[in-house]
Amino acid sequence: MEESLGGPKPPPPFTAEHEELRETVRRFVVKEIAPNVAEWEEEREFPRELYRRCGKLGLLGLKFPEEYGGQGGTHLHDAIWVEELSRRGASGGVAAGLNAHCSIAMPPIFKFGDEWQKQRWVVPGIRGEKIGALGITEPGAGSDVASIRTTAEKTEGGWVVNGSKTFITNGVRADFLVCACRTTEEGGHGGISFLVLESDMPGYEVTAKLEKLGWHSSDTGELAFTDVEVPDTHLLGEENRGFQLIMANFAWERLLMAIGAVGGMDRLIEVAIEYAKEREAFGRPIGNFQAIRHKIADMATKAAASRTLTYDTLRRFHEGETVINEVSMTKLLTQRSLVEVADDTLQIFGGYGYMREYEVERALRDARLGPIGGGTDEIMREIIGKNLGL
Ligand SMILES: Cc1cc2nc3c(=O)[nH]c(=O)nc-3n(C[C@H](O)[C@H](O)[C@H](O)COP(=O)(O)OP(=O)(O)OC[C@H]3O[C@@H](n4cnc5c(N)ncnc54)[C@H](O)[C@@H]3O)c2cc1C
Repeated sequence: MEESLGGPKPPPPFTAEHEELRETVRRFVVKEIAPNVAEWEEEREFPRELYRRCGKLGLLGLKFPEEYGGQGGTHLHDAIWVEELSRRGASGGVAAGLNAHCSIAMPPIFKFGDEWQKQRWVVPGIRGEKIGALGITEPGAGSDVASIRTTAEKTEGGWVVNGSKTFITNGVRADFLVCACRTTEEGGHGGISFLVLESDMPGYEVTAKLEKLGWHSSDTGELAFTDVEVPDTHLLGEENRGFQLIMANFAWERLLMAIGAVGGMDRLIEVAIEYAKEREAFGRPIGNFQAIRHKIADMATKAAASRTLTYDTLRRFHEGETVINEVSMTKLLTQRSLVEVADDTLQIFGGYGYMREYEVERALRDARLGPIGGGTDEIMREIIGKNLGL
């Protein structure tokens, strides 16, 4: 490992270079995102301009090669970006909107796409000029991905797409949608292909902007496709092999959610400790009460266990190991832990925690998506159980 920059040694898998990036991201989030979060939550959207700003700073292309306008980094650089977003006070919605674009929609185009596709979507995407979304979930198909019903019928020179998607992050304002479609008559895993749809294609419609418990500053869309004509050049990867793309993407999406939760827990613990030192009851700081001290000790223990497992899984993923089981365990542990830590923090804040003006109630609402999105807790347990031979 490289020498650290004079402070404590960075925890593996990170090096001093990653820690420099951490400092840059930290400054950016503290100065340009955190102060605006409350307003953006009220507006139910953060400004489109934020994508451009992040693009200009190189933050949307950290792991993409320089020839495409990226920074030539790796997944580890992306991990730093995601951790610092939640650690320094970006809301779940802001983090979701930015990362659905740069960490979930663009990577499959980069990995499975041809040169023309990369130039069309990834290059402007890295600059924050075009916004992407990933469309898998449908009203009738969530956990059971193989049961999607949006169809793409082959025509001369292209495809005609009919169907719908729901719960799509960035769905309202995405310029391009990496969309799972059924391309064979028979169901199951085999007949899924990915087409990149563009929002200005005739027949592509945003049918709703969904109201949610949390992630308020992220637009979550419901989409309908009626005879959308999509050229052949928009097919991503091989026809009927889309399930592979879904699986390749899931590992990274789940790891990112875990990293975000690790950052979120650290922030909440910091906020809880500060409050416990300042708030007085019965003539002394509430942090002097054993019950509060022990609650914070439990929170810190959960956060430490989450960090250790997440960093270890990240390291192994980065080294190219197959870590499906570890990723599932990591997501399961971290998402539930974040909900518990947010709930404990709210309890420590008492009535003030319940109030809008503090970030704690938002953190709890935002955290609740974790055990659902990107594969539910139950699905994670199914994967882990099967890997145990059950
Ligand atoms: C805010 C938000 C943003 C999202 N963003 C996106 C996005 O950008 N793109 C996208 O494609 N999707 C997105 N999703 C969808 C998300 O991935 C799904 O909600 C999730 O996969 C669960 O699917 P479902 O909601 O249909 O639940 P269901 O699959 O209907 O599950 C309902 C319940 O049944 C349980 N269950 C289902 N199957 C089993 C089983 N085999 N064993 C045990 N229990 C089971 C589930 O765990 C859950 O508790 C988003 C969702 C939300 C809420």
